Order: sequence, then C-alpha cells, then structure tokens
Amino acid sequence: MINIDPSLEPVYDTVLKRNAGEVEFHQAVLEVLANLTPVVKKRPEYTRASVIERICEPERQIIFRVPWVDDEGRIQINRGFRVEFNSALGPYKGGLRFHPSVYLGIIKFLGFEQIFKNALTTMPIGGGKGGSDFDPKGRSDGEIMRFCQSFMTELYRHLGEYTDVPAGDIGVGGREIGYLFGQYKRITNRYEAGVLTGKGLTWGGSQVRTEATGYGLVFFVQEMLAADKSSFDGLRVVVSGSGNVAIYAAEKVLQLGGTVLAMSDSNGYIVDEAGIDLDLIKDLKEVRRARIADYATEKGGNYVEGGSIWDVPCDVALPCATQNELGDAGAAALVKSGCQYVAEGANMPTTPTATAILREGGIKFAPGKAANAGGVATSALEMQQNASRDSWAFDYAEQRLHEIMTTIYANCATTADEYGLPGDLVAGANIAGFTQVADAMLALGLI
Ligand code: NDP
Repeated sequence: MINIDPSLEPVYDTVLKRNAGEVEFHQAVLEVLANLTPVVKKRPEYTRASVIERICEPERQIIFRVPWVDDEGRIQINRGFRVEFNSALGPYKGGLRFHPSVYLGIIKFLGFEQIFKNALTTMPIGGGKGGSDFDPKGRSDGEIMRFCQSFMTELYRHLGEYTDVPAGDIGVGGREIGYLFGQYKRITNRYEAGVLTGKGLTWGGSQVRTEATGYGLVFFVQEMLAADKSSFDGLRVVVSGSGNVAIYAAEKVLQLGGTVLAMSDSNGYIVDEAGIDLDLIKDLKEVRRARIADYATEKGGNYVEGGSIWDVPCDVALPCATQNELGDAGAAALVKSGCQYVAEGANMPTTPTATAILREGGIKFAPGKAANAGGVATSALEMQQNASRDSWAFDYAEQRLHEIMTTIYANCATTADEYGLPGDLVAGANIAGFTQVADAMLALGLI
C-alpha cells in the first residue's frame, strides 16, 4: 500500500471518481502523490492555489473515430486518442502508441508521466500523449499507411509546432511518422517540420533520435555506476523488449563494454550466454519484423516461450518493453540472483510493489520518467533544429543528449538530498519534475 499525505487524499479521491476504471492512470498519479508529502509541507502555496488538483486534470482530451479500409476492401473502425495534459512549459509533447491494449486510461497515464519527464529535460515542452487501439501486427504496409492517413485526417486540427507535437511510441516508428507527416502536409499545405518528431533523416529528422531513449537510459545508468565508482565494463545486462528502446539500450551497453545476455518480445525471451548478437536482433526486428524466437533458430541460445526474463541472473536489468512488465516475482528473482541496478527504459514497467521489493532488496532503482527522458529530450533537439532550419552531426547530437542525461541524473540526486531522501531517485525525479511545472503554473495565473 502506498501512503500519501492526508491533505492529498481528497485530490486522489477526485482522480478515482473522475477517471473510473482507468487503473494505470490511478497508479501513475498515486506514485507521484506519494512523493509530494515533503513538498506540500515546504511549499504551502501549491495547496493554496490547488496546483496539484489542476495538474491531475488534463487540459483537453480528444477521442475520435478512425475509419480505414483493409486489404480485403472491408471497412475497419478504430478509436483514436490525444490527451493534451499540460502546456505550462511549452506545447504538448509526447508520443503516439498503436497497440490493441490502448484505451483512455493508458493514454492518460502516459500523458501524466510525460509532464514531469519533459520538465526534467529542462527543455520548453509540455506533456501529452496519444494513440489508438489499432493493432499493427500482421498488417501490410498499405494498411498501415491508410490507417495513419485516416488517424491524421482527424488529429491534424489539434496539432501544430506551437500547439501539440506528437512522436512515436509502441507500434509507431519512423515508417508511421512518415505516413502521418505526409498526410499532415497534404491537408495543411505546410511543410511544418516541427509538428512531429522522429522524422527520417532526409526530411527533417535529427541524428540520434532513433537511438536516443536507449542511449539516454544507459547514460543515466552510467551516472549511477559512476556514483558507486563503477562502470559498465564487464557487467552482465538483461534488457526486456526488442523494440526501439531495447535495441539502442543494448547497443550502448555493448559500446561501453557490458554484455547483453537476454532480450525478449511479447512471446518469450532469448538467452545467449555468449552475449546477444545485436546485428541479428536488428535484422529480425527492424528489417524482417520477425519474432525473437527466430534468434534461436538462426543463431542458437536458449529461447523460453512465455516465462519471465527476470529469471536470468544479471548485474543490471533494463525493463524496456511495456507498463507493469516487472512484477513482484520478477523483482524477487532479481534480488535473489544479485542484480544491483534496475533502470526503467519503458514507461512504468515496474509495479509499485515490485519497486518496493527491489529497493528493500538493496537494488538501486531509476524511474522511467528520468531514465527514459532522452527520447523526448532529443525530440526537443529535433524541434530546435527544425526551427533554425539546421541539422547537426551525429556526434554533436549525442553529446547534447549525454549532457542532458547527466543533468537529469544530477537534478534527481540533488533534489532527493535536498528533501532529506538521499539516493531516492524516484522521489528526486517526482519532486524535481513536479516543482518545475507547479512553479510555471503559479506564474501563469489560473491555467
Ligand atoms: P516498440 O514498439 O519499438 O517495442 C516494444 C517492445 O516491447 C517490443 O519488443 C514488444 O514485443 C515488447 N512488448 C510490447 N508489449 C509487450 C507485452 N505486453 N509484454 C511483453 N513485451 C511487450 O516500442 P518502444 O521501444 O518505442 O517503447 C517501449 C517502451 O518504452 C514503452 O513503454 C514506451 O512508452 C517507452 N518509451 C519509448 C520511447 C521512445 O522514444 N520510443 C521514449 C520513452 C519511453 P512485440 O513486438 O512482441 O509486441
């Protein structure tokens, strides 16, 4: 059970009533409120101005029909969402997720997290998130394009480089951003590059955006290791997922001298004691859109259908797949096998009770809203390049990302110290992100 300050209980009750059944959103709100007890004591002006109540209520929620025609000529209907959560620091910014599990509660939890994550980057971006319950798995390229075009035909009216700037997330990569951007351009007759991020390198994208979330995650862990006078050199790392975040987290781990032992997809996980062959994973996932099981057929290693990747002993675990993928049993297994660091590449992959098990077991823990902020930070760098009609070299963009992740780590660590919670990066991230947004909301009057 997570405890919150009694003064915040009515706020949480209102969230439960107003957003009935949206359990992921409730979880995300509760995790932030749990860290605000010292803040409400130190900064009573937030309570006087009802800032916390306001932050929990999205500025705008859009739900729309997405009709499209499949390859058999049948009309299919999906539901589209965009939750424009908070624009105190800048235009709404946050990805689009295409996955059958998507409903309003998932988009709201992601949008809520995004507010604080974006604040931590120190870039001028507000928080939002969107997506659809469309399942891209097994769909042809033509079907994906028609879906994206229909989705944008409604969403475009809510977007703009100064209004709301989406990007990718689960199920939305460079191909989908291309189709979405193409449709936006046709409808508006504007080459408004800054309206979407994650674009291709030849049409307004930024170097390092593809790699940014995974690389940024590993840069963050590098800071945690450095604080313990350690490094990735020789460490054994387990990475869940094999999508965008997972692949580039694994790539940076390898560059820094670590070994990646295991990766997964939603069907199962592969263990390769010799170290995962990342070129093969990239070919399977980025080119052939195949399953992780094919790794074993083509290369060897041990494939486990279903099962828990957290049973693989490691020094560092990086959950990079989806929300609530690391539960109590996984956390207990990691503690038992001697894992020392867990850092969230996905959004809210660790359940609250699993987080408690990890921390009580002595594992150092980095929350996603800080550790995976490199993706959105580099999206903001992409917007900066679009606004100045410039494009930076890979090394420079990576250096900017590295500096941002170092700053986020330092901000979380010093904020935790300041509030008497040394080493608590969860509290540090929640408090630092929250106070930055709350201060802007106070300054802007009644918004
Ligand atoms: P991708 O779609 O590229 O990859 C998702 C990966 O997770 C796939 O390997 C997928 O397997 C696996 N996965 C999805 N659902 C489940 C499930 N229920 N159980 C087990 N595995 C699952 O997405 P991203 O890599 O972009 O995103 C991963 C996470 O990182 C998400 O939580 C996202 O919100 C977060 N994130 C992403 C950012 C980005 O820049 N892309 C930025 C910050 C956070 P399968 O193919 O079988 O479905």
